Amino acid sequence: MNASIREQFPILQQEINGHPLVYLDNAATSQKPRAVIDAVKHYYEWENANVHRGVHTLGSRATDAYEGAREKVARFINAKSTEEIIFTRGTTTALNLVASSYARSVCGPGDEIVLTEMEHHSNLIPWQQAALAVGATLKYIPIQADGSITLEDVEKTVTDRTKVVAIAYVSNVMGVVHPVKEIAEIAHRHGAVIVVDGAQSTPHMKVDVRDLDCDFYALSGHKMCAPTGIGALYGKKELLEKMEPIEFGGEMINDVGLYESNWKELPWKFEGGTPIISGAVGLGAAIDFLEEIGMDEIARHESRLAKYAMDRLSEIEGISLYGPREREVGLVTFNLGDVHPHDVATVLDAQGIAIRAGHHCCQPLMRWLKVSSTARASFYLYNTEEEVDLLVSALIQTKEYFGDAT
Ligand code: PLP
Repeated sequence: MNASIREQFPILQQEINGHPLVYLDNAATSQKPRAVIDAVKHYYEWENANVHRGVHTLGSRATDAYEGAREKVARFINAKSTEEIIFTRGTTTALNLVASSYARSVCGPGDEIVLTEMEHHSNLIPWQQAALAVGATLKYIPIQADGSITLEDVEKTVTDRTKVVAIAYVSNVMGVVHPVKEIAEIAHRHGAVIVVDGAQSTPHMKVDVRDLDCDFYALSGHKMCAPTGIGALYGKKELLEKMEPIEFGGEMINDVGLYESNWKELPWKFEGGTPIISGAVGLGAAIDFLEEIGMDEIARHESRLAKYAMDRLSEIEGISLYGPREREVGLVTFNLGDVHPHDVATVLDAQGIAIRAGHHCCQPLMRWLKVSSTARASFYLYNTEEEVDLLVSALIQTKEYFGDAT
């Protein structure tokens, strides 16, 4: 990855607390390149109007921009058609849509929803709520010490009572890439659907929903260079067609009577109200930007960086590293002896280094790891080995500063 890519991110050019910014919190949200910022600005300066309504020129420009972004998302993840792409606020909203609409309609008492204990709260609580509402049972695929799961355990956990298997493609804490394609095959053999939480995979690797044969796939724009407030749900057309909307109002209707109404066709029946038009435009621009660099190139860069980070971090005495030693994706989670991760993150911030500390929206996983919280450094296409070196030396200094605590 060359320096010119980094130069395209204005926010990275600043100093924080007197040091050049080292932004290593990309799993929480990514920074935005000039091309995305400009696309949103251009939209507001030249195209802004409401979509699917206006007969006037701006109305058609806004609609073209919005629907053009949907085409880009469909192409990016290799969906069969734009009917299969529902714009949402992000992964959380996408997963809630599937849990509230699909799961509640197909699950009854005694049916099973299968998850892992390492799911982000966004891929856990919607299923808990659905299970509580219909009397379904939640089951968990066991986790190995390095955060991986085995297909043998998936085979043992998924049964003919399973209606939904919901799993993250990449764990936001353990940095594990789950064998989603193989899990999909097992789920389908039992007549269940697979819902993939793609929040941490879509920004970092080539995703092909048809090759994975997943039934639903959720993504967040803000983690892949797009603005906040925009994301998407992919669903197989035959499943989406059978699902009821969960939000009702303008934009999503076909015919409205005083006592009954009916809905537009896909994908609009799930997009009640004025959508996040500028966000979709920004997501389209982010996809153009990432595709120009190439998703395989981005994945290679991050995996090199992750391997380098694991090597360098493991040199620090007393550090606990979570997840597999061999890393494919660019995030590393750790604890520095007994120093509280919030203290680590605060000391690093004083040197301009942004990392994440806390439970990472994975409280059940923290309990499984027997810790209250961890620190996490997560990389993206603009990060460098020099930044990993800065992280490591700052951690060594932090360890010395806290002395005996480590
Ligand atoms: N799933 C995973 C694995 C995540 O890492 C995140 C966010 O960190 C989410 C879901 C939720 O994404 P959002 O807050 O964009 O809806």
